[in-house]
Amino acid sequence: SYRSRSAFKLLEMDDKWRFLTPRDVRVVLDLGSAPGGWSQVVAQKLGWDETPAPHVNAVLRDSWSATNPLDISDSDLNGESLGRGRGTIVAVDLLRMSPIPGVQFVQADFLVPETESLIRGLIARQAGNEGKADIILCDMAGNSTGNAFHDIESSLAICTSVFEFTKRHIRSAQSIGREMGGVLLIKHFAHPLLHHFRTQHLVPNFNDVKYLKPNASRTESKEGYFLCRGWKG
Ligand code: SAM
Repeated sequence: SYRSRSAFKLLEMDDKWRFLTPRDVRVVLDLGSAPGGWSQVVAQKLGWDETPAPHVNAVLRDSWSATNPLDISDSDLNGESLGRGRGTIVAVDLLRMSPIPGVQFVQADFLVPETESLIRGLIARQAGNEGKADIILCDMAGNSTGNAFHDIESSLAICTSVFEFTKRHIRSAQSIGREMGGVLLIKHFAHPLLHHFRTQHLVPNFNDVKYLKPNASRTESKEGYFLCRGWKG
């Protein structure tokens, strides 16, 4: 069973567009992951289903060491060498998340710069991926303040920040060898500048950009997802 209703949105979007399915997918990031529904889905897709596997719980502390901030050994991280699931799944959230086999969890604020170094360190351990992610998923949403204006602004700030991060950490379609490889799936809320975000940032940089509103997403909710496939690099 899944920990969130959101899991069904991801399943629905992947059923239709099959971005999690290709066997060459090795690194997936799940930004804003708690309580863990999307991470559960990704872990299953990468073959970690029900298999006991090491879990790494990394908490970003004030005094983290730049050389080995997580103090974990490589053997803990490479699923393939353990004969279980494949690839690397990194999940990030402000809130705690209980363990999921195959998922390395970082409890941190995505919007602070140190978190990027932590994520980069974890991706770098995956062989054959040039230190980059195949898929970046973002279901992040600020806590609703009840102030519609503030909530909408914070959603756009998250989108912008995730896009900047994506530029630095996503693999290109060309290096993957698939036109639709290099995927960003990002949640957003209706915003007057969203059209601009889509046309200025997403459309020029991906081979295909789709607006999705899964059935599992309540119709009255202003949320939607951009599925962006084929990072041009
Ligand atoms: N996809 C998740 C699932 O299936 O379980 C649900 C995600 S929930 C809708 C949004 C999450 O984004 C919340 O858990 C929240 O803590 C997280 N979030 C919001 N702002 C964040 C930030 N700056 N850094 C990290 N996580 C953040």
